[in-house]
Amino acid sequence: MVVLTEDSPLTKLVKKGEAEQLARTKGLQTVGDLFEFVPRRYVRPGQLTDLSSLRVGEDVLVVAEVARATSRPMRNRRGKMLTVVLHDDHGHELDVTFFSAYGHEGKLHAGVRGFFVGTIGAYGQRMQLTHPEYELFDDDAEGEAAVEWYRTHRVPVYSTTGKINSLQLRRLVHTALDSVDRIREPVPEPVRAARGLLDRAAALELVHRPGVDDQPSRGLDRLKYDEAFVLQTILAQRRKAVESELATPRPPRPGGLLADFDARLPFELTAGQREIGEVLTAELASDRPMHRLLQGEVGSGKTVVALRAMLAAIDAGGQAALLAPTEVLAAQHHRSITAMLGDLALGGMLGGAEHGTTVALLTGSQAARARKQSLLAAASGEAGIVIGTHALIQKHVQFADLALVVVDEQHRFGVEQRDALREKGIRPPHVLVMTATPIPRTVAMTVFGDMETSTLRELPRGRSPIATHVVDGDRPGWVDRTWQRIAEEVAKGHQAYVVCPRIGDVDDEAPGAGDGRSPASDEDAWDVDWADGSDDADGGEVGDGLGDRSGDGGAQRELTGVYTMLATLRATPALEGVRLEVLHGRLDPDTKEATMRAFADGEIDVLVATTVIEVGVDVANASVMVVVDADRFGISQLHQLRGRVGRGSVPGLCLLMTQGAGELAAERLAQVAATTDGFELAQVDLLLRREGDVLGARQSGRGNSVRHLRLGRRDDEQVIADAREDAFALVAEDPELRQHPALAAAVAMRLDEEQAAWLERG
Ligand code: ADP
Ligand code: MG
Repeated sequence: MVVLTEDSPLTKLVKKGEAEQLARTKGLQTVGDLFEFVPRRYVRPGQLTDLSSLRVGEDVLVVAEVARATSRPMRNRRGKMLTVVLHDDHGHELDVTFFSAYGHEGKLHAGVRGFFVGTIGAYGQRMQLTHPEYELFDDDAEGEAAVEWYRTHRVPVYSTTGKINSLQLRRLVHTALDSVDRIREPVPEPVRAARGLLDRAAALELVHRPGVDDQPSRGLDRLKYDEAFVLQTILAQRRKAVESELATPRPPRPGGLLADFDARLPFELTAGQREIGEVLTAELASDRPMHRLLQGEVGSGKTVVALRAMLAAIDAGGQAALLAPTEVLAAQHHRSITAMLGDLALGGMLGGAEHGTTVALLTGSQAARARKQSLLAAASGEAGIVIGTHALIQKHVQFADLALVVVDEQHRFGVEQRDALREKGIRPPHVLVMTATPIPRTVAMTVFGDMETSTLRELPRGRSPIATHVVDGDRPGWVDRTWQRIAEEVAKGHQAYVVCPRIGDVDDEAPGAGDGRSPASDEDAWDVDWADGSDDADGGEVGDGLGDRSGDGGAQRELTGVYTMLATLRATPALEGVRLEVLHGRLDPDTKEATMRAFADGEIDVLVATTVIEVGVDVANASVMVVVDADRFGISQLHQLRGRVGRGSVPGLCLLMTQGAGELAAERLAQVAATTDGFELAQVDLLLRREGDVLGARQSGRGNSVRHLRLGRRDDEQVIADAREDAFALVAEDPELRQHPALAAAVAMRLDEEQAAWLERG
């Protein structure tokens, strides 16, 4: 027998073609990959030979003999269909059907014996297996041995890979297990002992070759722990690396800009804002770079917290940069921060406060002159705060002394982008990242695990609750009532958003114009939501990322575009005289900016928009939001969107309008309507989507795929927490993993995989 290691390519075990197929369909390249490829489920033995006790719906493995086999051409399709009748020693029968006889007809003839694995179905009065996997015995001895094996083991069922069926895969794994001398053990013995974990070799045996009375789940627990442990080791090392860097300490300055700002603040900070503020002050004053994630619901007051940190940085002689994901958001931050600072933002100008500063804006689409001015202000140090989009990251952008980097809506940026900004400091600047998307603890520990985390849990006082209702768009009465509600709010002096899933054509505005669906691909790339599981190919359009769309009744229906909606609203009698305007990512930046400003100033009553307004747009006077085709939005996205209303003292109302939503989509909307707890919704969201989407492409370079762990599951939270504790303790003792070569190898492999995945995604 060949001696293999876990690094051996699968070509050592199977033919080249098969190896290629395993690599292509399941990503399995090495023997080690094969070990990590865990069965989907297990079939219990005992259903072995007795064909009389089978029940419909049951997963079975039967050992039986082919009594007879017949093939006949199919009526409506090309090819032949094969029907095989099996019988056992007692004369009980079971039908087996193949809709394509090809490849089976020659093998399954009367008299051969073998075993068959599948799920029992029914056809008329008779039970049957359709396209079961099977393996035939060459002789009686082999049959006896196989029967004996199955009598004493649970049968792992692997997800099949084209030509290679589960049974072949099982054999392959077993051969591999028998051929590898020493199974790698990345988890040190003391840790295993303390956690009561199996060793890895035993765990793999249990997962792939469990005896009748064994619990494969114990083996799987160990593999989960492994995965968590390796990830956490990586995060611990990253944290260690950041901690070993030296930052310039930025101690608070009594009587400085921050003190002035606090003295003028028109409201009282919440307890959370104050506490986190103190933590940030302390971290800024330290010579270790701050590396902190600030999360909090929309409207929880993160911006104020960040601004106070920026002012502290300025007080200590440094500058702060605020990176925003969209132009709309950057412009809004610039506007609101300038407004909050008042005369403190008029540094060096007549009428400015004694120790004021200036706030510069830098975006990609700025006019050359404004841009030059901002670049100059950043480089000279005149601007204490520089706010911008990814334009900030570009090479020629320089700072006199960058002390603090604040990243808003972190999930839209990759680590690379954050690091590019970090490199603009003389020494590594302090970093604060903010997100309004509630991050469940499992994800926080896995994806943001190299950062400290602070959470703003309470909303500022005076914040009004948001009521959410689902509106059946197929019922004209309900739709009319919806527009009427908007009219009522406008009559009270409030404002509204109507959010549509796509932009559509300007021509749609003319009633009766063609409904040609135009691709929205030139929408600002940053306007794509992370909840969008689909690729960026459809630009600004939303996708629910839940994959239940194909089954939805509304799947074929044209999505409502902004311009179509505008035309509809214009033609609605209830809305006569209401000032309507559109906002979407394809407008030129000046128009976008002007529209947002006009809406903020109350010159527009209803903004008909795409998801450009999703992030951070802050107009306290807006009280209603209608989301059109709401079933096409993800849970987190809807939650984010509705955070745009109820930001002032006016109670918020969010109406989710749908037409012919599928069952899953309806369930999702009901959940959004049922709770305003973002963390709860994030958990639901995680449960409903594949993990890969959550840590999706936009989380570039960070543990972006998990194999065994299920981040949506509470059970795995403890596993991750345990592994985290162990890994951080180990790295504290041995940062280079010198004493732990097997762990170092596992870490290197994981990083390679991530790198490869990242490159593949391009
Ligand atoms: P976030 O960025 O978390 O969505 P913001 O910082 O934009 O929230 O705050 C939302 C609104 O609440 C802003 O208008 C802000 O001025 C206001 N705000 C922030 N903190 C408080 C507070 N402690 N009391 C009252 N209003 C506050
Ligand atoms: Mg904000």
